[in-house]
Amino acid sequence: MSRLRIGLALVAVVVLIGLVPLGAQDTRLAPVFDGAAALRHVERLVAIGPRPAGSPALARARAYIVDELKKAGVSARLDSFDAATPHGRLPMANIVATIPGRRKDVILIGGHYDTKWFRDISFVGANDGGSSAAFLIELARRLPARPHEYTYWVVWFDGEEARESWTATDSLYGSRRMANELGKSRQLPSAVIVADMIGDRNLGIQREAGSTPWMNDIIWASAGRLGYTAHFLADSLAVEDDHAPFMRMGVPAALLIDFDFPPWHTTGDTLDKVSAQSLEIVGKVLLDALPGIEEGLSRSRGARP
Ligand SMILES: [Zn+2]
Repeated sequence: MSRLRIGLALVAVVVLIGLVPLGAQDTRLAPVFDGAAALRHVERLVAIGPRPAGSPALARARAYIVDELKKAGVSARLDSFDAATPHGRLPMANIVATIPGRRKDVILIGGHYDTKWFRDISFVGANDGGSSAAFLIELARRLPARPHEYTYWVVWFDGEEARESWTATDSLYGSRRMANELGKSRQLPSAVIVADMIGDRNLGIQREAGSTPWMNDIIWASAGRLGYTAHFLADSLAVEDDHAPFMRMGVPAALLIDFDFPPWHTTGDTLDKVSAQSLEIVGKVLLDALPGIEEGLSRSRGARP
């Protein structure tokens, strides 16, 4: 008995010695998504205060994002435009970071960085607007080191929120603008992935019903492989978000959103509702899914008209 135990202990020691350097090497080659770093970006954005489209506060958020990209050595451009809203014409700007790949075809990963305008409450949108903006900064920092064939555009959409109430013309200002412009110049991306409200401490992402099924399948398979089935749920829910204008133009797309968020559009959407762990889970799942999505796109290219 005891000899067997010693034998097993030796095996365990050998296995551990064998695994430690291998694990360290893996981490160096494929850095994981850093949820704590993403949460620090949420903190900085929330500290600016409410950040509705067209406001000086959103211009400060934009400067913060562009500055963080510069520090990470990621090149970015602004697409500035005027949008006709129920509150008159407002200046807006999408931020587009480019991470070149071996091929020119583009996978767009986006989310909004504005917060909803309210007449009578102070809405800082830690999760709704803050989490997606912060998540994308950390993602843009990590993507260049990941093996990839496709070129990635990481896009911070302006004016996702309705000024008054959600209609086809009062919502999604930034993504509608970008999809239209790219459609006109025949430069639509090969696929679009949008993240919104992914910082909820109590993370539960349902499959978005309008999203392209094969893309959802790949993302949910990654979540299962990484042990996150408690956070990537089996049931589905339809949500219109920044992926919609691209989908309407025939681009395969997926939306990652946790819409079961009680403080949604209330003064309760504050920093304490957001966790580094949730941001990290979504980051790890998405990074794990990207090679499969690239493969799926390459396979379907021949089949598309
Ligand atoms: Zn919102």
